[in-house]
Amino acid sequence: MLEVKNLHVTVEGKAILKGLDLTVNAGEVHAIMGPNGAGKSTLSAVIAGKDGYEVTQGSILFEGRDVLEMEIEERARAGLLLGFQYPIEIPGVKNIYLLKAALNAARAARGEGEIPAPEFMKLVREKSAEMKMDPSFLQRAVNEGFSGGEKKRNEILQMLVLQPKLAMLDEIDSGLDIDAMKVVAQGVNSLRNADRAILLVTHYQRLLNHIEPDRVHVLVDGRIAKSGDKSLALELESRGYDWVVEESAA
Ligand code: ADP
Ligand code: MG
Repeated sequence: MLEVKNLHVTVEGKAILKGLDLTVNAGEVHAIMGPNGAGKSTLSAVIAGKDGYEVTQGSILFEGRDVLEMEIEERARAGLLLGFQYPIEIPGVKNIYLLKAALNAARAARGEGEIPAPEFMKLVREKSAEMKMDPSFLQRAVNEGFSGGEKKRNEILQMLVLQPKLAMLDEIDSGLDIDAMKVVAQGVNSLRNADRAILLVTHYQRLLNHIEPDRVHVLVDGRIAKSGDKSLALELESRGYDWVVEESAA
């Protein structure tokens, strides 16, 4: 589904990603871990098409299509969705209108018509209940005045409604208390299916107790320095990142 090859990215002239390779198949959940500043957020932002990153070498293919040739909207329509570490507030735009507009755009891209209003209402009510969000959140401006945990749940709500093919979640667990984290993890787990891939960027192993990854990668200094199964996350939890850094420098 996703194939990143020898990716080099600079931000404001500074090299951040330095030859990163990553292959993710449909149905898989991959966790990207690694120390602060390693380039984890940069990777997901470049895949999603955020401005300000310059790809100097390498390629990103999504279902065989050249992602770097696609506009950000095209990427979203193709089913690539990024949930943010710091979700943005959109004053003046109701949450429910954003969800509906985004869903109808995704449907249009698949050649489907607009979702009938009753069906849409049923869908969002069901999904907000799954995320333990009071329906009143649907009527509020997007993320405006939401607590950190509410914003993260709202990000997952968007994913549950939009059903992306590749869901990327950047530090979705940061700032969450244990109950909110479980709700978020349940939401992510309910996204898992054979046709979808999930890329989880996370600092901590604790999220991975609730969302079991198929693969774990350690990103160090712009490259994947080590990959393994979920036991690698446990090893990182007990040993930290230094040994991987040393191993990869050797
Ligand atoms: P991580 O998510 O692994 O903590 P990031 O991808 O956010 O790391 O950042 C990697 C490096 O790129 C950091 O050194 C960071 O300061 C730098 N960086 C990211 N975005 C910018 C930017 N807009 N301007 C300058 N430097 C940036
Ligand atoms: Mg980050």
